[in-house]
Amino acid sequence: MNKKDADIIVIGGGIIGTAVTYQLSKKGKNVLLIEKGDLCNGTTGACDAYITPHTKAVGPSLDLCIKSQEIWKTLEDELDEDLEYEHNCGGLQVCQNEIEFELVSENAAKLKKGGLEVHMLSINEARKIEPALSKTLRGALYCPSAGKVNPFKTTYAYMRAARKNNAKSLYHTAVTGVIRDEGQVVGVNTDKGDYYADTVVNAAGSWGGEIAKMLGYDFPIVPRRGQLIVSEPVAPLINTTMQTGMYMVIKHHPEMITDERVKRLGIGYCIEQTKDGTILLGFTRELVGFDKRTTLEAIEGIIQSGIRHIPMLKDIHFIRTFSGFRPYVSDNKPLLGSVDGALGFFMAAGHEGDGIALSAITGVLLSEMITDEKLSFNVEDFSPNRFIV
Ligand SMILES: Cc1cc2nc3c(=O)[nH]c(=O)nc-3n(C[C@H](O)[C@H](O)[C@H](O)COP(=O)(O)OP(=O)(O)OC[C@H]3O[C@@H](n4cnc5c(N)ncnc54)[C@H](O)[C@@H]3O)c2cc1C
Repeated sequence: MNKKDADIIVIGGGIIGTAVTYQLSKKGKNVLLIEKGDLCNGTTGACDAYITPHTKAVGPSLDLCIKSQEIWKTLEDELDEDLEYEHNCGGLQVCQNEIEFELVSENAAKLKKGGLEVHMLSINEARKIEPALSKTLRGALYCPSAGKVNPFKTTYAYMRAARKNNAKSLYHTAVTGVIRDEGQVVGVNTDKGDYYADTVVNAAGSWGGEIAKMLGYDFPIVPRRGQLIVSEPVAPLINTTMQTGMYMVIKHHPEMITDERVKRLGIGYCIEQTKDGTILLGFTRELVGFDKRTTLEAIEGIIQSGIRHIPMLKDIHFIRTFSGFRPYVSDNKPLLGSVDGALGFFMAAGHEGDGIALSAITGVLLSEMITDEKLSFNVEDFSPNRFIV
């Protein structure tokens, strides 16, 4: 029998790994988080920060997001830190023309049926909420309960709180293998040595597929690049979270797109202003592997789309670009839970463009699963075993 370094090893120091670490440490578990870089080294350090239920597919994904929002509401108090969390800043999905408006209206009807409060607004009504919107637009879907948060602050706050509960972390340490003793997972190999525990959680985001492969599983998690541009800090301009109607088509039904450029770049305009005044304007959805470059073609497309929706953007200086890798899964659902054939191995990866919103509930659910408690949400639809044939 090998020595035990922890009860549970969590691989990945993004918002998911730290949420899981914190929730387990709160239950008295001895947790070791292993991260190949620093905290926020991956997608959590290169994203937007919407908590938007209206962008989720109606059904289990929407229900999971609503459940997560309940946890978000009390998280700042619980972690005792400012996470720049805004619960009801509201979200708009803006439509350029009648076709988009009809498509978004159809989705609004489904969202209402799914239990979410949303309203379809004329452009004049939408401009009462966001005066900067162009008068030439057709209208918008409005979701009052959409919110936003600072993902960096949340990840660091989770880890600080976990440390108070005796969780440990190893940074600049890459997991290179998962150690098995017959059917039971007992630890990990890293570039700094081996570490042992009864349970291993794969929270490696877009790299979650690579970790699962170390145990012989072929889970379809691939990086979907998102390029964003960032402005200098400016006076308050944007109050809500905002995307285009096209965003939903690109996210959930890319097969419906016929335009080659839109298909390749997947530009579904979205905009957000952070507390310090910078504007994040995005973004693309591209399947280009782990290529982190930003491209002139995409930046131009994002800016053009941005100005069409918010003409005042043409007078603002955009000062840098970056990209991140959404952990994309072919059926648009994260992999949450135990894995058949590998006792003690849990997946918490594949959240695509929803990982910030869903991190709160993911942490809670994984901690409930690992400690064999009654689950606060039925995770059947998210079981990794759906991909084991
Ligand atoms: C442009 C863009 C906009 C987005 N906007 C939103 C949004 O508005 N709302 C929302 O909810 N979500 C959004 N997302 C998605 C969200 O950012 C991700 O779903 C989320 O950050 C995933 O978190 P994670 O912890 O699973 O992954 P990550 O943050 O990538 O963390 C995984 C960690 O695992 C580490 N790792 C990988 N391999 C190893 C290894 N072998 N050993 C040790 N460590 C390893 C990595 O270094 C990384 O730090 C957006 C994403 C992008 C790209």
